[in-house]
Parts: sequence; structure tokens; C-alpha cells
Amino acid sequence: MKATILALSLMALLSKDIPGTPAPAENRSGVTASWNKNPVIAHRGAWKKNHLPENSIASLNEAIRLGCYGSEFDVHMTADSVLVVNHDAEFYGMPIAKSTYQQLRAKKHPNGEEIPTLEAYLKVGTRQKKTKLILELKPSEISTERDLKMTDKALAIVKQLKATPWVDYISFSYDILKHVRQAQPKANVAYLKGDVGLDKLKSDGFYGADYHLSVYQKGEWFEQARSLRLTINAWTVNKAEDMNWLLDNKADFITTNEPELLFDVIRSRGE
Ligand code: MG
Repeated sequence: MKATILALSLMALLSKDIPGTPAPAENRSGVTASWNKNPVIAHRGAWKKNHLPENSIASLNEAIRLGCYGSEFDVHMTADSVLVVNHDAEFYGMPIAKSTYQQLRAKKHPNGEEIPTLEAYLKVGTRQKKTKLILELKPSEISTERDLKMTDKALAIVKQLKATPWVDYISFSYDILKHVRQAQPKANVAYLKGDVGLDKLKSDGFYGADYHLSVYQKGEWFEQARSLRLTINAWTVNKAEDMNWLLDNKADFITTNEPELLFDVIRSRGE
């Protein structure tokens, strides 16, 4: 009986909104899915605790299982223009931009997975309607033209798979994000680099800032973001102390390698 009451209390806590958190992305995506109401974004999926490969399908599934609001992942383009999911520009020593997809398939993650294609990743991610897919477009060192070609391909794949409501876009490249906004004026885009003020993000139609924690700690961001109706997301936040600071400041999203810890912190605050 006690266990049941405890479980019900935990469920009630988990389902509560974080005060100050604006309605998440569905307002602008038009989807009726009920995204998890918490600020937790698993960085490269939820991989760390269970020793899963970063950016693997397994790490995406774990982020979904945990009930994260979002699962972040990184996209690159191969030499033969296939979009694949990986953090680094190399996959186990093979440079993605200079390798064909078939060549990359020779390497495997330790759990046996091949490098996921964006298509495969989105197909798994859109089987559910609780966890958003936070798609980071990685600029190459080759050319902006190539980066924009990759961006167009990503948008086309998302559209073809009817995955638009699930996907928010992030990037360190302002050019890439402006390109996304031009092609899809309703897309949620957030900038990662930390060198642009909120006024400019707003005037360029962005959804918000997704900056390193230290950027927020150095300046006054939260009030202005609320007044401009921009979202604040912070990366990569792995300590309870920093999570609490962001929750105190009512950050909208917290990107972390430790989603389980962040859920514990949220529960312990009793909000
Ligand atoms: Mg990333």
C-alpha cells in the first residue's frame, strides 16, 4: 500500500510543470502530441548511466523510456550525401564527410549498432509522442554551401517522414539556422554558440538560446528571455548544483549527460 502511494506521489510530481516553464514547442509546431512536461533534454540520448553508445538508437530509446522532454542528437553528411547521426566528425576513426555511407557501415558501435542514418533515427523517434527530437546540424569544415545542402536534406527527410512536429533544430552555425527558418518559418530553432544576444535571436525569429551554462552564469539572461518570450536551454549540465541554479532561474530546458540525476533533482525540489 505504502509502495503504491509512493509510486502515485512520484508520478504526480513527475507530471507537474516546472513553474515558469512556458508551454513547450507544440504551440508553434501545431502538433497535438503531449510532450513530457519537464525541462530534461538528454544530450546525445541517455547513454552514460547504462554505458550505451552516444547518439545510438539505444540511447534514444533510453531517453524516451526515462520520459525526457527531449533527446538531442548530432547530424553529419557523408561523402555520398547520406545524413548520419554521430557527435564527432569521425566515426571510429573514419572521417564522415570523406567516407561513403557503405564505408562507414564497416564500423560498429560496441553494442553492435551501425552508425544510424537520420532516417532510421527519426523513424524510431516518431513511434512515440512524448519526447521531442532535438536535431543538431553539425557544420562541416568544408564549406557553408555543403552545410546548407545538408540542412536542406535534413528538412526534406523530416518532411518526408512527417516528423516535423517532433523536431527542434539547433546548431553552432547561425547560417544553418537562418536557412532552416527561411525554409520552414514555423520551425523551432535555437543557437548554440553563445555569442549572440537575445534581441538578435528574437529579431531573426529564433525559438531561443541554447548556450553553455557558463554564458548564463556570466550575464543577465533569464528576465530578458521571458520578456522576449524566448526559451533558455543550457548545455551540458551534469552537476546537481548547476541543475538547481538553472531550475531556480526557471530555465526552460536543461541539456545533460545525466538525465537520471536531473529527474532526481527535480523530484527532490518537490515542484
Ligand atoms: Mg550536440
